[in-house]
Amino acid sequence: MGIQTIGIVGAGQMGSGIAQVCALAGMNVIMRDINDAAVQRGVTGISSLLERAVSKAKMTAEEKDAALGRISGTTELSQLAKADFIIEAATENLELKLRILKEIDALAKPGTIIATNTSSISITKLAAAMSRPQQFVGMHFFNPVPVMALVEVIRGIQTGDETVAVTEELAKKTGKTPILVKNSPGFVVNRILVPMINEAVFVLQEGIASAEEIDAGMKLGANHPIGPLALADLIGLDTCLAVMEVFYRDFNDPKYRPAPLLKEMVDAGFLGRKTKRGFYRY
Ligand code: NAD
Repeated sequence: MGIQTIGIVGAGQMGSGIAQVCALAGMNVIMRDINDAAVQRGVTGISSLLERAVSKAKMTAEEKDAALGRISGTTELSQLAKADFIIEAATENLELKLRILKEIDALAKPGTIIATNTSSISITKLAAAMSRPQQFVGMHFFNPVPVMALVEVIRGIQTGDETVAVTEELAKKTGKTPILVKNSPGFVVNRILVPMINEAVFVLQEGIASAEEIDAGMKLGANHPIGPLALADLIGLDTCLAVMEVFYRDFNDPKYRPAPLLKEMVDAGFLGRKTKRGFYRY
């Protein structure tokens, strides 16, 4: 099946990144957000990233113009009826996603696969709300989308084999490497990454080593490109805490207990780079 037109719901960080890689891969993109300002922000963001690529001689001005010409921004949900494959990348909120997915489900062509980029909501639970659960799948891109090479393709228990195959193919077409994952909290990468960060916070809290020493240890001893505490500052400590709380609740397992120091930092408003203070000062 040839996918020519991709529909994207949400023109934020993730939606615009996904739009960019799809357009560069030669597909037409219809990107929908709720108001003109949000759509415009998404399109302008893509345009400036592509400008930068041209100025660094990573692409030609013609390639940039061609990619931008393939992206159309809209506030009209009905435009998505033209899409061959739709990716939902709106704000992370269960009620909002259920509403959007039902709306898309009602207007998408029969057979069109609907994917969600959710980081934490159960694919199985979302699929249950659709009239086409077999054609529903998780397609979890990483931030920033144009840079990060991975896509987790997540199958709910209802997801069909054909849906998985088409989604993996689409990920490859955008230059990404897909891994196939069963629906489970945090999927694969966040399930391993965030508890590792949480453990680093326990190590810091217990006074076993300083933040600098913990990060140097993981960089030099485990070959990580960035230490866990510097990474936590980059992700946002509030996000790290929220993910641990989901694991703690959904697995009902004390091994996912958030480090008290992580909670303390969040309560203090020390959220990392975005507040100029986390485990480091910025
Ligand atoms: P964001 O806040 O940058 O963008 C979300 C966009 O959705 C906003 O522009 C908002 O106006 C729009 N939106 C809200 N309601 C809408 C509707 N009804 N129709 C269309 N658009 C609507 O958020 P983001 O970081 O791009 O995250 C989007 C999704 O991607 C979330 O599910 C998030 O969990 C997931 N995700 C985020 C990251 C990350 O690191 N930021 C990584 C992987 C996955």
